[in-house]
Amino acid sequence: MTKIKMSTPLVEMDGDEMTRIVWGMIKDELLNPFIELNTVYYDLGLEYRNKTNDQVTVDSAEAIKKYKVGVKCATITPNAARMEEYNLKEMWKSPNGTIRAILDGTVFRAPIIVKPIKPYVRTWKKPITIARHAYGDIYKGVEMKIEGKGKCELVFTSENGEEKRELIHNYSGDGVVLGMHNLNKSIESFAISCFKFALDTKQDLWFATKDTISKKYDHTFKDIFQEIFDTEYKAKFEELGIKYVYTLIDTVVANVIKSEGGIIWACKNYDGDVMSDLIATAFGSLPMMTSILVSPEGNYEYEAAHGTVQDNYYKHLKGEETSTNSIATIFAWTGALRKRGELDGNSELMSFADKLEEASIETIEDGIMTKDLALIAEHENVQTVNTFDFIKAIRKTLEEIL
Ligand code: NAP
Ligand code: MG
Repeated sequence: MTKIKMSTPLVEMDGDEMTRIVWGMIKDELLNPFIELNTVYYDLGLEYRNKTNDQVTVDSAEAIKKYKVGVKCATITPNAARMEEYNLKEMWKSPNGTIRAILDGTVFRAPIIVKPIKPYVRTWKKPITIARHAYGDIYKGVEMKIEGKGKCELVFTSENGEEKRELIHNYSGDGVVLGMHNLNKSIESFAISCFKFALDTKQDLWFATKDTISKKYDHTFKDIFQEIFDTEYKAKFEELGIKYVYTLIDTVVANVIKSEGGIIWACKNYDGDVMSDLIATAFGSLPMMTSILVSPEGNYEYEAAHGTVQDNYYKHLKGEETSTNSIATIFAWTGALRKRGELDGNSELMSFADKLEEASIETIEDGIMTKDLALIAEHENVQTVNTFDFIKAIRKTLEEIL
């Protein structure tokens, strides 16, 4: 069999711990035998990030801007314990945060659905994708504890010194106050990424805020989405037969539960934080969640939503058997390869990505799975396998399909 060729590279970002081990296995068993992989490689493993003073993370993000498609392995976000463990020069920031800031992107999280893992909500048949606006609101909030009596005001002083003032509350006793902000430019980027992703995946887009209560703040979100939709995307949505729906946040919560899935749910920052955990759990399994960063310019970065699976890594180092689920990392690769194929008009590459996904799902549906899935699977003939044998089993299924 001749290997599939790639005319343009994609950006490969290696990572840490167990997922770094899995990364190598996926390339050896599922990619290199079938594709002449063309990647520009960046090592985002913590050791090398430390060595380069985190420059490698910035370089990888710039490379995504150049090549438009990247695939990333899970990485350690350093904390106090990691400072010591890796003898770090500094507590480097989360690579995902750095990359997102450079690309100005929105993160879309979607579960991978397999028959033996039943969602808690019976009506859900297709994935529900959460898009979280990752700028501002309470995450950049300024807070105060109020002691005693007094007046609290919102004051805006313009560049030329004019003041705009609004009473927040006349305090008659102790209390709290919170100031938060957002920027039209950031909301616009968020809206554009969401509309782009909806077109890309041919799914309806739902957006919700509480604009009936928050008549200026939340209403601005609603208006910006509507205006961009009407001027740029309405016709394209109609052409594809997909819809943009705006409702109140409480209505959308009810509608999501009653839906059969297959939608993108765009959320303000806090709603996205909370709802993405709810959706992930309700679909049954964190190791089956994918994550895609989409920038308004149309750059794409694919990764698994889970972390580096540290506990399994320590077991692996001790020579003990592990059963790490590689599905979300495999789907990060297939997502990136399919997008590369789409941008380059490489239908062979796109079809390989489809088949690798099919092989992964079929392997689990045949009963061969890692421990995390075996514990919750509804299947009469479950065969729990270790990290490597799971990837081997997918290889076997893939060879049968190809
Ligand atoms: P985690 O790596 O996602 O693991 C949390 C737990 O979820 C694991 O202990 C394991 O549960 C289960 N799990 C997650 N992925 C799994 C998989 N593929 N197969 C089997 N089980 C899986 O999160 P964490 O332990 O909080 O974080 C570990 C490191 O990852 C941290 O340094 C953190 O900074 C980093 N992290 C990176 C990213 C990213 O790069 N996107 C995201 C999150 C966290 P059991 O204990 O039941 O086996
Ligand atoms: Mg959360």
